[in-house]
Parts: sequence; C-alpha cells; structure tokens
Amino acid sequence: VIRCRAAVAWAPGKPLSVEEVEVAHPKAGEVRIKIVATGICHSDEHVLKGALPNVKFPVIPGHEGAGIVESIGEGVTSVKPGDKVIPLCIPHCGECSYCPNPEANLCQKFHMCEPQNLLPDKTSRFTCKGKLIHHFLWISTFAEYTVVPEYAVAKIDAAAPLDKVCLFGCAFSTGYGAAINTAKVKPGSTCAIFGLGGVGLSVVIGCKAAGASRIIAVDINKDKFAKAKELGATECINPRDFNKPIQEVLTEMTGQGVDYSFEVIGKAETMIAALASCNMNTGICVMVGVLDTGSEISINPMLLLTGRTWKGSMFGGFKARESIPKLVSSYLEKKFNPEPLITHTLPFAKVNEGFELLRAGK
Ligand code: NAD
Ligand code: ZN
Repeated sequence: VIRCRAAVAWAPGKPLSVEEVEVAHPKAGEVRIKIVATGICHSDEHVLKGALPNVKFPVIPGHEGAGIVESIGEGVTSVKPGDKVIPLCIPHCGECSYCPNPEANLCQKFHMCEPQNLLPDKTSRFTCKGKLIHHFLWISTFAEYTVVPEYAVAKIDAAAPLDKVCLFGCAFSTGYGAAINTAKVKPGSTCAIFGLGGVGLSVVIGCKAAGASRIIAVDINKDKFAKAKELGATECINPRDFNKPIQEVLTEMTGQGVDYSFEVIGKAETMIAALASCNMNTGICVMVGVLDTGSEISINPMLLLTGRTWKGSMFGGFKARESIPKLVSSYLEKKFNPEPLITHTLPFAKVNEGFELLRAGK
C-alpha cells in the first residue's frame, strides 16, 4: 500500500481537500500509476458542482493525466513498471459489441453505461482517514498514485514529456478529434467554434489542420482571442458586442451560415445558437460541451428538417487506447503543437487555485 497525496472532493459544492490517502496494490488486470502531471478540464468542475451523472462522493476527480507505471497486477501484459502511460477516460475492453467496430469509440464499459465509481470488481483502491474514497472515470488523476484497469491505459513513447502530453488524456484529443473525426472538416470550408477553453482551442487546431479556410472563434471573454488567432482562428467575435443573436451575426458574415459549428461550452442557449449558425442543406453542428445533469434543450425542428446535421462527440471520436499513442507520436514528430493550451503550471498543493483560474477564464 502506498501513502501519498490526493485531492479529495468530500461533497458537492466544496473545494478540493489535499489529503494523505492510501492507494492499495493493483489487483489482477489492474495497473498502479505514478501520476506526474494532470490538466484541469471543465468536466472536473462539473464534478465538483455535483453536476455530472454517475459520480459518487467522496471522490478523487481528474481525468487528464500522464504518468509512469509503478506496479502491475496479475495477468497484465500490455504495460510494465517504468512505462510512460496515459490513463483513459474512455476504456477499450476489446470484448463488448462496440469495441471491434472501427466506427465506434465508446466501449460498453464507458461511464455512461456502467458507473466507474469503483473498479470493475466493485471495490475501491483508495481510502482516507479510514473512509472509502470513490474513483472517477476509473482514473482519478488528482492523486499521486492511482489504480486503473489495464484496458483503460495507453502506453506512449518513452520520449514523451509527461507535463505536456497529459493534454492528450482529454482536452486536445477531444477538440482535435471533434473537427477531424466527428465533423470531418473539409479543406476550404468555414467553421465556427463556440467557447475557447482548452477543448475549444483544440477544435481550432483541428479545423486548421483539416484545411478550413475560415475559422471563426466565438467567446464572451475577449482575452481568449489572441491565443485563438495564434492557433489558426481567422476571425474572433464576442456575442456581447452585438445586439442581435450570434447565429444571425454568423449567417450574415458567411452569407448562408457556416459549414461546421462546434459548441464547446456546455450551455443550452449556445447549443441551439451553434446549430442555427450552420447552413441548411449541408451544415454540421457538433456538440462537445457537457450540460449539467438533468438539463434538457428544446429546438425548432425546422432547423433539422431543412437539412442540418446535429452530432455529439465524446473524446473526439477517437478510440482512445489505439489513438492516444499515435497522437503522442505525431506530436513528437511536430505534426501539431498543443503546448500553447498550457496557460499555468502549478504545484499539486495549489489544485484549488487551478480551479479558480479556470472559473476566472484565465
Ligand atoms: P473552459 O471553461 O476552459 O472554456 C469554456 C469557454 O467558454 C470559456 O472561454 C468561456 O469564456 C466560454 N463561454 C462561456 N459562456 C459562453 C457563451 N455564452 N458564449 C461564448 N463563450 C462562452 O472549458 P473546457 O475545459 O474547454 O471545456 C468545455 C466544455 O467541454 C465543458 O462543458 C466540458 O465539460 C466539455 N468537455 C466535453 C468533452 C467530451 O468528450 N465531449 C471532453 C472534455 C470537456
Ligand atoms: Zn475532460
């Protein structure tokens, strides 16, 4: 058993508390990982608010990490101690009806099908002050050590800098893949991206890589525009600068609406605005943002009857276990650069300060 630090969310609506926890040894089919770096995603903020389904408190959140295998349980063959790895928020069990399908990236053991508060044998590897602490998405990267099923681990290149490639655990892969895999952005097309956080900026990178000729970035925080332009946005607009709905502004700017729109915020009104911003006949709107659990949206069905396509995307449509190692290698070959997504680097004890920066849009 390892004693180490972890950031525990004891109850919804409370800040994280950095505690000493016990991390049990990995059982058969499990891997214990020393987490070296982790990003903060807005989905972790949904967890802290109690707004994500299938989460149980107390819990150790975090799902955008990278680390080194410390030990392995019986029967584990794909990784060994010392390997660099990324724990996967979308597992790949290889046995369900979806895993063999090249078109499907969501395994039936994914958290919306089967809660991942406990490891597959329905027990936790974490305790703190004598209490059981739940896992989050099976990976709980806000811990110095975590235990993960082997099929939720991807081995990556030994040369990968872990403080950078942790971004492939969520933000970068999600945004980049939403453009490349889900929308399948075509060269010469026009795209609009609503929300310029880590995920939305990764959509910008994906649209540029796909050869889009106009990339319109939309955010209510104009401080995000410089980085969006650096990554490939051709225009940046703030909905608060107009006295008409943003979908009308985008339709006027483009004549008929954009070819592809992406909602990367997680609000009902922007999901509807993004759908209405793409053109009838061929426009494709991809929903990436996560609405608080229990929320619903209503739309005018004419938006779809007139030919728009509305799609959702989890983890950018990537089959995580096979795609993450390839994405990491492409980054090492300098095919794209997600490093500008990193705005601050903090020591683990300041994890709550990291959330303050996220809430402040910094
Ligand atoms: P973030 O908080 O870093 O960024 C959100 C951005 O949206 C901010 O720049 C903010 O200013 C902007 N914004 C807020 N309200 C707006 C409005 N009304 N109009 C325009 N812009 C607005 O968040 P993030 O970490 O990039 O995550 C974005 C969303 O994606 C979250 O909902 C998160 O849960 C979700 N997410 C989904 C997946 C997936 O697989 N589908 C994966 C990761 C994150
Ligand atoms: Zn995430």
